[in-house]
Amino acid sequence: MPPIPLHHYIEGDWRLRRESRLLDVINPATAVPLARVPFSSKEEVDHAVQAAHKAFPAWRATPITERIQHLFRLKQLLEEHVEDLARTITNECGKTFRESLGELRRGIENVEVAIGTPILMQGVNNEDIARGIDEHMIRQPLGVTTAITPFNFPGMIPLWFLPYAVATGNCFILKPSERVPMTSARLFDLIDQCGFPPGVLQLVHGGKDTVDALLDHPLVRAVSFVGSTPVARYVYGRASASGKRAQCQGGAKNPVVIMPDADMDMTTQIMADSAFGCAGQRCLAASVAVTVGSAGKEFTERIAEAAASRRVGYGLDEDAQMGPVISEQSRKRIEGLIETGAKEGARLVVDGRGRHVGGYEDGYFLFPSVLADIPPASTLSRIEVFGPVLSLSHVETLDEAIRFVNDRPYGNMACIFTSSGASARQFRHEADAGNIGVNIGVAAPMAFFPFSGWNESFFGDLHAQSRHGVEFYTQTKVVVERWPSEWTRTF
Ligand code: NAD
Repeated sequence: MPPIPLHHYIEGDWRLRRESRLLDVINPATAVPLARVPFSSKEEVDHAVQAAHKAFPAWRATPITERIQHLFRLKQLLEEHVEDLARTITNECGKTFRESLGELRRGIENVEVAIGTPILMQGVNNEDIARGIDEHMIRQPLGVTTAITPFNFPGMIPLWFLPYAVATGNCFILKPSERVPMTSARLFDLIDQCGFPPGVLQLVHGGKDTVDALLDHPLVRAVSFVGSTPVARYVYGRASASGKRAQCQGGAKNPVVIMPDADMDMTTQIMADSAFGCAGQRCLAASVAVTVGSAGKEFTERIAEAAASRRVGYGLDEDAQMGPVISEQSRKRIEGLIETGAKEGARLVVDGRGRHVGGYEDGYFLFPSVLADIPPASTLSRIEVFGPVLSLSHVETLDEAIRFVNDRPYGNMACIFTSSGASARQFRHEADAGNIGVNIGVAAPMAFFPFSGWNESFFGDLHAQSRHGVEFYTQTKVVVERWPSEWTRTF
C-alpha cells in the first residue's frame, strides 16, 4: 500500500500544502513506510495561531458546562475507537498492542479528569477583608496554547494537555512528533466529530522549524513540551525568553533500589516489565538497578533469566512481549552504548545485540540486555539509554543506595523494592526525584495527580495533568470590591 498522505488540521479543516517538505513515517517492525508527514511552514503556523486567536473570545465566553460537553463526546469516541487507535500506535511506534491499549487508557483518564474542570477551576473568596469590602480570586484562560510531544507515547501524551487547555477556555495547537504523526491524525479525526468550533483545536505537523515558529509567535501564550532534556531545556529557554509560560518535561535515568528483604519473584517480574516494556522507551523505564547487600547475586541471576526469555516480536502478534525500537539510528546508538558500557568495565550478562525476529528481518529489533557491575561514574550509569538495557550496580547499605540515586542529574523517578516500611519511608523522604515508586516499577501518576519530574527531567513549575494542568492554563485575577449599602436604591 502506498504511504498515506497526512494533513494539518487548521481552522476546522484538513489541509496539505503541496510544496511542504515531506517525511516518511516508518513502521519500525517492518521498515515499511506507512504515511508521509508534511512539515508546516512559518506561514501555516501563523495561520493556525491566528485562527486560534480569532476563536478564543467566543470559546472563552462559552459556559464551562458547555465546553466540557465536547470532551464527553471525545471520551465516548476514544472508547469506541480505542482498538483502532491502539493498532495505529503499534504500527508507527512499535510497542505491543497491549501496551498501546494501556497508554490510551491513561490518556482517556485525562479527558475524564478534565471534565471535572468546573470544580478544578473554581476560585476562592473572602468576605469582609475590611469593613464592607470583599475579595475574590478567579481563574481566566490565557488564549492560544500549544504542546510539542515526543514519539514514545503518541496516544497518551497529547492528552496530558489538550483536554485541560480547552476545558479551561483556551485554544490549543498540537505539534506531535514527526516520527509518529498518524495517531494524532486519528485523534483529530475524532476531534473533528466532537463539535468544537473551528480554531479551538488544531494540529500542525513538523520538526524544529515548526516548533521555533510556535515558540516565537507573539500570540502563543503557553507552551507544554515533552521530549529529551536538551530540547526541553532549549524550548523552556526560548519560550520563557519571549514571556510565555512553559512546562517542559525532559529525559530520565531512573534508578531502582533493590533491598535484600524484597520479594524477589514480584521484584523480578515488575523490573523486567519496567526495563524492557515498550522496548525500554519509557521516560519511567527502570534503567539502573542498585542492589543492596545480599540482593545482588539473586537479582542478577533472576533478571538475566527474565531478560533472556522475553519474547520479542511485531507488536500486533499476540505473543510478543516487546516490540522494536523506533529507528535504525536509535538501535545503532543503543548498541554503541552497550559497547561503551563493556569497555568501561561493565560485565555483559545478557547481550541483546545482533538477534533477529523471524519474518521481520528488516525491523529495528534489539533484544533485552543486562550489564552488571556498572561503575557509578560510567557513561551507562548516567546517560539516558532509552532502549531495552538494564544496568546493575551494587552497594552494601540503603544510605549508599540513596547517595547513588541522588548523585544522578535527572529526577523523573526513583523506586525501591523492600518489605520494610522503615526503608521505604527513608527512601520516600530522601530520594531526589519527583515520582517515587515503592514496590512499583513504573511510578506513573494517575491523571488526578501531577506528573512530577524534577531536576534535569523538568523545566518549569506547574506539571502536566490534573490541578497543575488547570493552573498552568489559567491566570489568576484578584478582585477587591466595595458596594456601600447607602447606594442601595428602592424602585
Ligand atoms: P525529542 O526531544 O527528540 O523530540 C520531542 C519533540 O521535540 C518532537 O515533537 C520533535 O519534533 C521536537 N524537536 C526535536 N528536536 C528539536 C529541536 N532541536 N528544536 C525544537 N524542537 C525539536 O524526543 P523524542 O526522541 O521524541 O522522545 C524521547 C525523549 O522524550 C526521551 O528523552 C524521553 O525520556 C522523553 N520523555 C519524557 C517524558 C517525561 O514525562 N519526562 C515522557 C515521555 C518522553
